[in-house]
Amino acid sequence: MQRPVPKYIHAEVPRGIQGAGTNRRDQKQNDLDARLGLPAQAQYTLRMKTNQQWLIAARPQGEAKESDFRWNETTVADPADGQVLIRTVYISLDPTNRVWMNGAESYLPPLPLGNVMRGVAVCVVEESRNPSYAKGDLVQGLLGWQQYSISDGALLGKLPKGLPVPLTAFFGLLGHIGLTAYFGLLDICEPKPGETLVISTAAGAVGSLVGQIGKIKGCHVVGLTGTDEKCRWIKDELGFDAAINYKTANVPEALKQNCPKGIDIYFDNVGGEILEAVLNQITLKARISVCGMISQYNEDRPVPGPPNLANLIVKRARMEGFLCTDYNSRAEEAFTQMIGWLMQGKLKYRVDVVEGLENAPRALHKLFDGSNKGKLIVKVGPE
Ligand code: NAP
Repeated sequence: MQRPVPKYIHAEVPRGIQGAGTNRRDQKQNDLDARLGLPAQAQYTLRMKTNQQWLIAARPQGEAKESDFRWNETTVADPADGQVLIRTVYISLDPTNRVWMNGAESYLPPLPLGNVMRGVAVCVVEESRNPSYAKGDLVQGLLGWQQYSISDGALLGKLPKGLPVPLTAFFGLLGHIGLTAYFGLLDICEPKPGETLVISTAAGAVGSLVGQIGKIKGCHVVGLTGTDEKCRWIKDELGFDAAINYKTANVPEALKQNCPKGIDIYFDNVGGEILEAVLNQITLKARISVCGMISQYNEDRPVPGPPNLANLIVKRARMEGFLCTDYNSRAEEAFTQMIGWLMQGKLKYRVDVVEGLENAPRALHKLFDGSNKGKLIVKVGPE
């Protein structure tokens, strides 16, 4: 793997010099170079804006390693008519990043080797030649693990300014994580007061919101997570009724103890053995939101599923998969409600911000060893 080099200082280049054609120079620039006594090409190179990026270099075997990525530097082009030049502020690290690295077709086309690593980013428009965007606009999109990108605006979402939340919230509460938690629970599981709701990865970005929304809806909420610190956080800070450390507890026993009336709703983020344990304890007409399968993302071969899926039949239960993007058209409904809950102190969240694009591949590991405390984000540049 090529190690990242230290960040450059990006000297701004006067318009008409930087850009599409790296040989495009004007007389003013030549005169300036001469006055400074620098060889023209060296001076030009210093002034060019460099785009640092991570490319996908190999299909991971098991968990993604740094050697599955390649650090790359290229020159930032000028936006053409109708385009915008965008600077990345944050990128979101998500368990699905690992899924995107596989060669197989999924809910998005496979990412070809050599492409910029795919990722959701919050960015600022640096330069616009598109009438729908102005310099300084905040935008979000699948812009990848890189410092700069050029877009025609078609797949960009403009972010509102002036909301009483930090920019990072546009990945969490007011982003794809918020949509996932809100609709994955409310639309698919239709929780009712007094019902028992169990959540896996309960201290994570999605899980922690699901549990709090469950409490707002009057459920008895039980969370499964992998450390005692996370157990304390969801119980003491977020108000879950019970927390189970699935790495140290006997999960079927702990579920029995904490869900004495059975499990009416399961918000599944992991699949595998925990799903199997839950299926044995579901109630009549239970609902299961199939949100994620993180216990299987690093597996190279298909893993055997729970042998007790037939319990869905016996219990006339509903298990339903979904993607947060199914709910894009209803985002305003979710975000208006959740920002209200945030303001009323009914919802809390935490973010885990890793500094520097160069650390993105290493940071991805935190999602799989469980050391991320809240929504995992990489800070690429200043806000
Ligand atoms: P997160 O929960 O903030 O972080 C991932 C967590 O997963 C880790 O902190 C770890 O927590 C847990 N984990 C890792 N490996 C595990 C394993 N083998 N078994 C059990 N738990 C494991 O991540 P997130 O972004 O909120 O995502 C959570 C789930 O939601 C993922 O499955 C993701 O794919 C899914 N998701 C789905 C959609 C959708 O549209 N359907 C959208 C967003 C996310 P512990 O310490 O608790 O082990």
